Amino acid sequence: MRPHPFGLLTDLMADGGVVILSGAGLSTESGIPDYRGPSGLARRAEPMTYQTFVRGEAARQRYWARSHLGWRHVARAAPNAGHRAVAELERRGLVSGIITQNVDGLHQAGGARQVIELHGSLDRVLCLSCGQRTARTELDERLRAANPGWAAEVTVINPDGDAVLPDAAVERFRVVDCRRCGGLLKPDVVFFGENVPRPRVDECYALVGRAATLVVLGSSLTVMSGYRFVRQAARCGIPVVIINQGATRGDTHAIATIDAPLGRALTTLVERLGPVALERTPRPRLGLRGELVDS
Ligand SMILES: [Zn+2]
Repeated sequence: MRPHPFGLLTDLMADGGVVILSGAGLSTESGIPDYRGPSGLARRAEPMTYQTFVRGEAARQRYWARSHLGWRHVARAAPNAGHRAVAELERRGLVSGIITQNVDGLHQAGGARQVIELHGSLDRVLCLSCGQRTARTELDERLRAANPGWAAEVTVINPDGDAVLPDAAVERFRVVDCRRCGGLLKPDVVFFGENVPRPRVDECYALVGRAATLVVLGSSLTVMSGYRFVRQAARCGIPVVIINQGATRGDTHAIATIDAPLGRALTTLVERLGPVALERTPRPRLGLRGELVDS
C-alpha cells in the first residue's frame, strides 16, 4: 500500500535536513497574487523583461510608476500561517535552509533565518552603473518627493496591487536615478530574460545537495530557475515532496504530492509533528548567501 502523502511528509520532516523551495503560492494567503496558480488572475500585461527595462526610458517610467503604487501593497503584506510554520520548523532544527522564488521578504518577516532569495528582493534597489544597493524605502521617499500628489490622481488601482495606470499618469511620473552616480536604478530582483547570479545558484545547488529531503511549497515550477533544484534532487536520489494547489511541472519527480492550501497544510504538519525537534547535532548554520556561519 502506498503511504499517505501527508504521513510520508511528516516522517521525512521529523528526520530533519529538509530544504524548502517556496514560490508564489505560499504568499497568496498574504494577499500577494500568484499569476500562475489556479486561482491566479491572468497577467494583464506582459512581464517586464530585463532587455526592455534597460533599453527603454518609457518602459522604465511605466515600470516605476506601476511599481511605486504596487510596492506599497507588498510592503503592507504580513506573513501568513504558512510562513510562520516554516519558521517554526526551522527553529526546531528540522529545516536546514529555505530557497524562495518570492521577492516579498515574507519568510524573514515570519521569523525564518536561513533564506536564499533566488530572485532577489523588492526591498532593495540596485544601481546598474555603480552596483550600489539601497533600501527601497529610501527610493520610495525620493519618488514621493519627485511626484507630489501623483498617487492621489491615479484612480485605477486593482485590489491585488498590480496597478494599471492610464498613459497620462505614466507620462507625468518622474523617475529618479542613482544618488551616487546618476545611473539607472532597477529593483534588486531577477527580471524575466535575466539570469539568477551564478554564485547564488551554486549556493542553492550546494544546499540542495546536502538535503535529506526537498519540500516544494506553492510553486508550479514553471520557471527553470526553481525547477532545476527539483531535477537535481531527483537525480541525486533526494526525496521530493510537493505541496501546491494544482499540478506542477515537478510532480513526476516527487515521491508525494499534496494538493492543499499552504497555510492549513503546514500548520497541520507542525501539529502532527508534536514536540519533535532535532537538538542532538545542530546543522551548520547558513548565512543569507548560503555561507557557513559560526555560532
Ligand atoms: Zn550608481
